[in-house]
Amino acid sequence: MSILIKESNVENVVIIGSGPAGYTAAIYAARANLQPLLITGFNSGGIPGGQLMTTTFVENFPGFPDGVLGPELMDLMKAQAERWGTNLYESDVVSINTEKRPFELKTLDGTLKANAIIIATGASANRLGVINEDKFWSKGISACAICDGATPQFRNEELAVIGGGDSACEEAAYLTKYGSKVNLIVRSDKLRASAAMVDRVKANPKIEIHWNTKVEKAEGNDWLEKISTISLREGKGEINVRGLFYAIGHTPNTKFLENKLDLDKKGYIACKSGRPETSIEGIFAAGDVVDSEWRQGVTAAGTGCMAALATERWLAENNLSKTIIRKTVEPEKKLNSSNFNEEEVNEETFDSNSEWQKGSYALRKLYHESKKPLLVIFSSPSCGPCHVLKPQLKRVIKELEGEVQGVEIDIDKDQDIAKQAGINGTPTVQLFKDKLLKKQWQGVKQRSEFKEAIKNIL
Ligand code: NAP
Repeated sequence: MSILIKESNVENVVIIGSGPAGYTAAIYAARANLQPLLITGFNSGGIPGGQLMTTTFVENFPGFPDGVLGPELMDLMKAQAERWGTNLYESDVVSINTEKRPFELKTLDGTLKANAIIIATGASANRLGVINEDKFWSKGISACAICDGATPQFRNEELAVIGGGDSACEEAAYLTKYGSKVNLIVRSDKLRASAAMVDRVKANPKIEIHWNTKVEKAEGNDWLEKISTISLREGKGEINVRGLFYAIGHTPNTKFLENKLDLDKKGYIACKSGRPETSIEGIFAAGDVVDSEWRQGVTAAGTGCMAALATERWLAENNLSKTIIRKTVEPEKKLNSSNFNEEEVNEETFDSNSEWQKGSYALRKLYHESKKPLLVIFSSPSCGPCHVLKPQLKRVIKELEGEVQGVEIDIDKDQDIAKQAGINGTPTVQLFKDKLLKKQWQGVKQRSEFKEAIKNIL
């Protein structure tokens, strides 16, 4: 390790949030030798990595002329923050005591102290509340087309997306890869998405736009079969769809602040225009949690940089920073240290002792022949939550030292297996032992949950 750990239980700065704002703040604070602690978030406010984890290609982030996958961009930011000495802490902040100095942050796992705080918790996708929404949630209704679009139940079926922003347009276009037709349901008579996105949607023959239309109800048996709509011109109607995707904007993740900081009318943190200082000295904010207007990855990164520089200055002015001393001026560049096989295996490359393999051949062999518990993750290529979960599962497997094996199935490639396994969204993890399904999880879960379930069957 190239960094000396400081001798204090009070952090210089705790950064809350792991989107572009949080990681950029971390990169700047780390390079200022402040060794920031970044709390990635876990259950609250969406998945670690933020909204870009549920985006496909980001084509407007400078430096990537051919675009970059959202989850890939976040992996790069994370690696850069870690390389310069950011410590990551996987938890949610439940509350902050702003009356005490140093500040106290209560997390799901304990209490932390910090001289300064940067809040970069972003905003979360909204739900609509149509009739039967809960019944068909994950059984046709989803808030993430990018994560769930490749699910077998949506193949060659009619689908619908609600919204008129960039997300709705991007998701409608993405879903045309899988569905027979995509209905884009817009509540007004215009799309507010960027011009390039609007052009793309209008030029796509598989997308039909329903203007001035609202969805009232979802119907079906075990899976969504149709939606009832009401439109300004045609009145009540129905569309037979097997998938309904929400892309109707966001709410800032400020609930945990319990009004301890000044918020604006919409619940965003109130800062002086163009500045990262909040109403409490020593607490700074950046990214979508302060910004209801621009909301871009690059603006979030920019304000993250401002928050870190302001924090550095404030800590120095108040004699509060304890900078670390690096053993080497230049931290080591991180090479891919994974020992896990990321290539799809076949008869020749399959290894019955490998801890992690990919593809249906590995699954069939291990399912029938392995005596060990088998963790199977069903993923899809652009699924952000899968990016978050896979390293966690690999860590679980490493920590259990060969007592369990892992297989990854790409549901895009292995549709039949996904169908047989009843997969209706990614990531889904199934735990098998002796050909029996012992447990199934959907979405990102904590490592301890997987570990406990595996230990129970060992
Ligand atoms: P957004 O821009 O806030 O758009 C939300 C859309 O949902 C609006 O069209 C809104 O309608 C509609 N809506 C809201 N509540 C609704 C309801 N109850 N019923 C029906 N429709 C409803 O959100 P976003 O599309 O998620 O984008 C957020 C930010 O991220 C934007 O700045 C966007 O540019 C950016 N983004 C960029 C990319 C990219 O560059 N690849 C991709 C995704 C998002 P009204 O228009 O009538 O208000």
